[in-house]
Amino acid sequence: MKITDAKVFVGGPGKNYVTLKIMTDQGIYGLGDATLNNRETLPAAYLQDYLIPNLIGMDPRNSEDIWQFFYRGAYFRKGPIAMAAFGAIDTALWDIKGKLANMPLYQLFGGKSRDGAIVYAHATGADLPDLMESIASYVAQGYKAVRVQCGIPGMPTASYAVPDKKGTEGDFITDFSGIIPKTEIWDTDRYMRFMPGALADIRDRFGPDLKVLHDVHHRLLPREAAAFAKAVEPIGLYWLEDPTPAEDQAALRLIRQHSTTPIAIGEVFNSIWECNKLIQEELIDFIRVAVTYAGGITHVKRIIDLAGMHNVRTGFHGAPSHSPISMAAQHHLNAWAPNFGIQEYLVLGTPACDALFPSDHVMRDGMVYVSDAPGHGVDFDEREAARYEYKPGSHPVVRLEDGTLWNY
Ligand SMILES: [Mg+2]
Repeated sequence: MKITDAKVFVGGPGKNYVTLKIMTDQGIYGLGDATLNNRETLPAAYLQDYLIPNLIGMDPRNSEDIWQFFYRGAYFRKGPIAMAAFGAIDTALWDIKGKLANMPLYQLFGGKSRDGAIVYAHATGADLPDLMESIASYVAQGYKAVRVQCGIPGMPTASYAVPDKKGTEGDFITDFSGIIPKTEIWDTDRYMRFMPGALADIRDRFGPDLKVLHDVHHRLLPREAAAFAKAVEPIGLYWLEDPTPAEDQAALRLIRQHSTTPIAIGEVFNSIWECNKLIQEELIDFIRVAVTYAGGITHVKRIIDLAGMHNVRTGFHGAPSHSPISMAAQHHLNAWAPNFGIQEYLVLGTPACDALFPSDHVMRDGMVYVSDAPGHGVDFDEREAARYEYKPGSHPVVRLEDGTLWNY
């Protein structure tokens, strides 16, 4: 069996999805996702210029050797652009493998460990009453877990992922007016004074059963993060996400020494080498890597197995930038992984997205039920894809009030 061709498509409804299609001499094709948010053209170019010419003629069944060929074969290793490109190839090869075996991917991993996988939604509010309404709407839809982000009183601009105005719906992160980013102003003191009380009010209103998650989005220094994690301990958060920037792994030790609040980290990691110490020293509770830019199923499966040995559960990244293809790969891993925790899930199921990526994965009452179709179970309609093209976009940058650049 041989790979005969591969094509890359960039575009989609409201997102620049990077979709890889690998064709074979037996008529079976595989699909992968290389979407690197706001840098979408780079993994696409890496695939087209360097990786696809090497893929032609390879046996697609040898997904492990192909992974090693691209990873070990390159002198410069890792990095989100390369790992997103490898991840798309790997996911497409697993898709081919599943179609050849006539089995859904979870069967190739070891079968199902659960009927459905719990997911969490994103509730946001310009202020606390606005956020309460947003949470209530997700609870009414059957969600059992909600990530909560709130506008901070007195903050000069909206902060991470919240709207400027009450009652606004949508993506408050990507700005498609161009590649020059807008600026958000951040004030740690205002955040530290407000957010623990807001989380306590949310717990009072929604009771003990709702799983409440909160994303600090790398804004705190290690000592501040330790104080915050300690202050919110009585609230019983399901997790506190990215309390400090991910590069400083020693920060997690300081947080751990001061609090038992569960910590989730890793959505910007692109290899096992960035989380192996955090996992082996049991400094985190959830690992948040994604199939999209952590080297695909082959590499993420290694991370899951290491995490399982150290009581670290999965909580894969599932921002709107992940296409239904990589989300499907994660649905299969979530169905199998003995140490599954939760899945971030944003409603992708618009008619336009469903037309581009047909599948029968089902999300119902805050749970995902994985498709039994062979492979990862998501197809790609090339005629639909022709309707879309790349649109430049940006995420904001963050500065303090005096102009100092801060962590986004
Ligand atoms: Mg996050």
